[in-house]
Amino acid sequence: MKKKIYIAYTGGTIGMKKSKNGYIPISGFLQKQIKKISEFKKKYLPKFKIKEYQPLIDSSNMTPKNWKIIAYDIKNNYQKYDGFIILHGTDTMSYTASALSFILENLEKPVIITGSQIPLCEKKSDGKKNLINSLLIAANYSIKEVTLFFNNKLYRGNRTTKINANGLDAFSSPNLPPLFEIGKKKRIEKIKNKKKKLIVHKISNQPINIITIYPGISEKILKNYFLKPVKAVILCSYGTGNAPQNKKFLNQFKKARKKKIIIVNLTQCISGTVNMNNYSTGKTLSKFGVISGLDLTIEATLTKLHFLFSQKISIKKIKMKIKENLRGEITSKL
Ligand code: ASP
Repeated sequence: MKKKIYIAYTGGTIGMKKSKNGYIPISGFLQKQIKKISEFKKKYLPKFKIKEYQPLIDSSNMTPKNWKIIAYDIKNNYQKYDGFIILHGTDTMSYTASALSFILENLEKPVIITGSQIPLCEKKSDGKKNLINSLLIAANYSIKEVTLFFNNKLYRGNRTTKINANGLDAFSSPNLPPLFEIGKKKRIEKIKNKKKKLIVHKISNQPINIITIYPGISEKILKNYFLKPVKAVILCSYGTGNAPQNKKFLNQFKKARKKKIIIVNLTQCISGTVNMNNYSTGKTLSKFGVISGLDLTIEATLTKLHFLFSQKISIKKIKMKIKENLRGEITSKL
């Protein structure tokens, strides 16, 4: 029997049309393009249904509310389909992929997020290739997790980040090689599932800040990041997790800890992991209560914090869970 795939079309470039204000998503336009492309009628493709969201959005407008809508849409159609594809804008694709990986626990079916850099209606669009390959993967491979497919590569969603604003090779997974690449030998790194029923966890918007450390950053600037209602701060530090050592600056971390603000240390480097024991400029941070985000991406850390703060668990437990590998989002065990 032919497999059935559910396509949730949220918006993004793939279905956009040029307007006088630049590209915008237009209701029904993507479906029209698909009808015009003969490859979508090929027998080797699974059956698919496209559910168009209202309103269609540029993914710059995504919020945790949208993540929740997508998760419940998957849940409501879970029994009827063999796999799920989320058509999404590339700008926040890695955030949604990461968020869904935490919201959806015990996935037994593939959930693939994809889109394109060039609209399907244009000659050189990468949309056709990305969508057709996603349909084939969703129907033929048993990858029971949230993945992101782009430019011939299937990635674990919560390890990805957008690395190119224009090019077709727009995504990278700096700390985990792709799960597989079209034309190359399969390298599936499976996630261990407890084979329980699908759980759709709660998620709501949380006040979280992101700081990038730079030479000369002052304690006055730092102080502003810890103002109410902030609950957590992602600190993008140097190298293996190092930051300036002046006392006034470090004191701000102490004050933040007193206010029960969680500070997660990530590296500004494209790849690698935080190890605050490497240098004294990192060790002092851990003494002041900063916790290591190991090799998490910014997208995975932000969405993991949203997810954890939305559960009824203590600050202590949230700090523990940040360093725990919940959905394959962390490799490093330092
Ligand atoms: N701005 C678009 C979006 O994220 C970009 C894209 O889809 O590639 O919706």
